[in-house]
Amino acid sequence: MSITRRNFIKYTSAAVAGASVFGQVHIASAATGVIMPKKGKRIVVLGGGWGGCTAAKYAKMEDPSVEVILVERDPKFISCPISNLVIGGQKTMKDITFTRDKLAKNYGIKIVYTEATALDAVKKTLTTKAGVLEYDKLIVSPGISYDYAAIEGLDNPVAIKKFPAAFKAGAETVALREKLVAMKPGGVVVLAVPPAPYRCPPGPYERASLIANYLKKNKKGSKIIIVDANDDVTSKGPLFKKAWADYYKDILEYIPDAAVTKVDASTGVITTEQGEIKSDVANIIPTMTAGKSAFDLGLMNKPDDKFVRADAYTLESYNFKDVYVVGDSTHNGAVGGVPKSGYIANSMGKVAASAAVRTLNGQEPLAPSLINTCYSMVNDDEAIFVAATYKYDAVSKRIISAAGGTSPERSVLFGHHAEDWALGIWNDILA
Ligand SMILES: Cc1cc2nc3c(=O)[nH]c(=O)nc-3n(C[C@H](O)[C@H](O)[C@H](O)COP(=O)(O)OP(=O)(O)OC[C@H]3O[C@@H](n4cnc5c(N)ncnc54)[C@H](O)[C@@H]3O)c2cc1C
Repeated sequence: MSITRRNFIKYTSAAVAGASVFGQVHIASAATGVIMPKKGKRIVVLGGGWGGCTAAKYAKMEDPSVEVILVERDPKFISCPISNLVIGGQKTMKDITFTRDKLAKNYGIKIVYTEATALDAVKKTLTTKAGVLEYDKLIVSPGISYDYAAIEGLDNPVAIKKFPAAFKAGAETVALREKLVAMKPGGVVVLAVPPAPYRCPPGPYERASLIANYLKKNKKGSKIIIVDANDDVTSKGPLFKKAWADYYKDILEYIPDAAVTKVDASTGVITTEQGEIKSDVANIIPTMTAGKSAFDLGLMNKPDDKFVRADAYTLESYNFKDVYVVGDSTHNGAVGGVPKSGYIANSMGKVAASAAVRTLNGQEPLAPSLINTCYSMVNDDEAIFVAATYKYDAVSKRIISAAGGTSPERSVLFGHHAEDWALGIWNDILA
């Protein structure tokens, strides 16, 4: 059922709805009461990124009679995977920007474009800026937040603009690309890798490779310095290091154990545990936590937790029955050693959707199975990859690796596979 503008206003107490396209509702002002009152079985999904869109689609595919409502603040789906190629100049923002129209049109998912603000797990309601949504099951996939305050001098708008993280694809991606293009030849780029766990372990190193590739071709005499908070490259290390030695020997420098402690937006000086560097452009990727909503909704289990503990079998949160958590917001200690990747978020979305639908229908959830493949481009054409499958271990009650490994080398063929992977998974998530 699509939501017409008239229907939606009827459902709300005070909201003013904007355009409604294929069941998608854009909210122009706030409401406080229950909107879209629940009539039958309902799953609400918070977060229309990699985990959330997958969960919404697969819940509806598993049982089309269940009403599925997706709550997302951003009308555009901008893909983090492939966004490093926008920074490197091989792709444009248009190549990584999509709508969620097909989820509404092909599956009947109702999409409400607004921000979720609170959860009442007893009454089973999710409060949003558009009003209150009742649910039987809630699946939460709010991504990550940056801990800007962990670095002295970074937690203010001037510094955030000067040193874009670009680990949420969109305006930050564009800002970093523009800074690289504007930099004079001979400039120094600093790329700061945050301490693990962070989203997309190989992401910073792929980005460094593509920036080095860009500098080599376009900015004579420039260099990029990677300052890594970790003691070594956290993913595909030997493959990245080989590519750097072969292609970027005089352009790229790698410094491990060099967490950034302070930045100075007026001078561009970056202070690390290994000393100071004067940057012309700096990509400071801060320490990451679960998406802010995970904190706001009361999903943290222990006072110092930064990610959400969930049962590894169903992804139901430790804190609240019938509330599932997927994607980058999940706690590795509770769920198991899976990377924070789009592919894992996609797998988790399917696991949680199936568990939610089955238990809603009085069935036992099935044993989870997850998959991850992560390609990294090291120049315009060649890629390396890491791949793994994961299963549930009944003894440790965690997700564990079943099989996996890295590509034996880099190749142009893997570069084609990288593009095909993106096309395939965007289709799985959004179409
Ligand atoms: C540069 C880069 C490259 C990457 N490359 C790869 C790759 O090659 N392969 C791979 O598998 N992964 C890759 N990743 C990782 C991948 O992007 C993430 O792991 C994935 O996006 C996680 O999905 P998620 O659903 O947890 O979060 P997201 O996809 O970030 O989705 C979260 C969504 O929730 C919404 N939201 C949050 N709070 C609210 C709220 N209160 N109300 C409404 N909406 C809200 C946000 O707007 C967002 O749309 C890469 C990441 C980066 C940064």
